Amino acid sequence: MRLSKLFSNTSKGVPSDEAALNARLLIQAGYVHKEMAGVYSYLPLGKLVLDKISNIIKEEMNKIDALEVQMSILQPKDIWEITDRWDDRKVDNWFKTTLKSGQELGIGLTHEEPIVDSLRSFVDSYKDLPIYVYQVQTKFRNELRAKSGLLRGREFLMKDMYSFSLNEVEHKIYYEKVVNAYFKIYKKLGIRDKTYRVYADGGIFNKGFSDEFQTVIDIGEDYIYLDQDLKLGINKEIYSDQNIKKLGLNKDKLVVKKGVEVGNIFSLGSKYTDALGLKYTDKTGQENSIFMGCYGIGVSRLMGLIAELFADDKGLVWPDSISPALVYLITVNTDDSSLKKAEKLYQVLTQNKIEVIYDDRDKRVGEKFVDADLLGIPFRVVISSKIDQDKFEIKDRTTQKIEIADLDGLLKKLLKK
Ligand code: ATP
Ligand code: MG
Repeated sequence: MRLSKLFSNTSKGVPSDEAALNARLLIQAGYVHKEMAGVYSYLPLGKLVLDKISNIIKEEMNKIDALEVQMSILQPKDIWEITDRWDDRKVDNWFKTTLKSGQELGIGLTHEEPIVDSLRSFVDSYKDLPIYVYQVQTKFRNELRAKSGLLRGREFLMKDMYSFSLNEVEHKIYYEKVVNAYFKIYKKLGIRDKTYRVYADGGIFNKGFSDEFQTVIDIGEDYIYLDQDLKLGINKEIYSDQNIKKLGLNKDKLVVKKGVEVGNIFSLGSKYTDALGLKYTDKTGQENSIFMGCYGIGVSRLMGLIAELFADDKGLVWPDSISPALVYLITVNTDDSSLKKAEKLYQVLTQNKIEVIYDDRDKRVGEKFVDADLLGIPFRVVISSKIDQDKFEIKDRTTQKIEIADLDGLLKKLLKK
């Protein structure tokens, strides 16, 4: 990518109406555009990051045999009436709308009912199960507080997966597979060591609890009590002597931290499948209930969280796995030989499938250095007449360490990534 071709320039001013650090940095660096509180558009660099996060998640979902779908965002009211959720007062953040005919519609905030409804056309025998489906889809929620930037959007990207199993035993096996997959995802995103499995409210089975995945960070809205050896915790919402005992945790070991919920998974039993009449007949011809689970991950929330978690006083610091590029290339001098050297390196890196942002803008080099830091690209590579003709300067964004290397050394370093 050549920066001269990118319309989304960095800006010097910090948006005055934006309190959240993640959004301020992402706006300043030209990754997102704020439309209104809790609503952001993704500009070219932001879209690259968002897609990389989605792809990491999709890869792990595919590995556990889930199939990708794309459900509709407009949802008919009747299926939600059957499960008594249309008028449920606990669901107070639902955007709804009305057709010209007067028919009421829901605007997708979750998809349990629609997915169960659509499976009714395909499932009737034990041979049809299990089914695992997921989507990466924009969700809409009328959040009261939307002051945390990408962490709490009114419009946001979520991965939601739904499992349909023959019985509770098979459900539980799959549920734990998802837990495993989630930790692999968090590992690839660079936040595994700060992310805990935390018992929380909700879920019909699993002793009445759901499992949250909480990343420890000071700006978190949730209070979580953690056993740091077991890597397990309990959300303050359900913290009581009785629950601690029920979950087999040791109260003396629990330390309280703030966390951001980056995932939440539930055992739903047959609540929705029974209500909507999604059942199967077994080998003996008898009708049985289908055991359901649902599994969410906040894709855009993860982008905001990672932006905020790793940022320093100079700007963003992306993990290699989701950075829009691995290299930010700058030439200090603009003589022919420097420009040629840069062009050549750009070609070589691209041929080696190393993503590079070449700052070929007509700007002062000082500004380019500032932007290289702000954008948070893992390696800054500089071409300068002060360095040997066949060498490059490489700076690691995280450690700030500078090295000089020839092309072979540079490639070796980058290809390891
Ligand atoms: P929260 O308690 O933070 O409001 P939730 O429990 O209502 O979230 P779920 O319905 O479990 O959220 O959604 C699955 C995941 O989607 C959450 O774990 C979170 O990572 C993400 N998420 C939920 N609400 C938002 C939001 N308003 N903005 C961004 N991400 C969200
Ligand atoms: Mg939740």
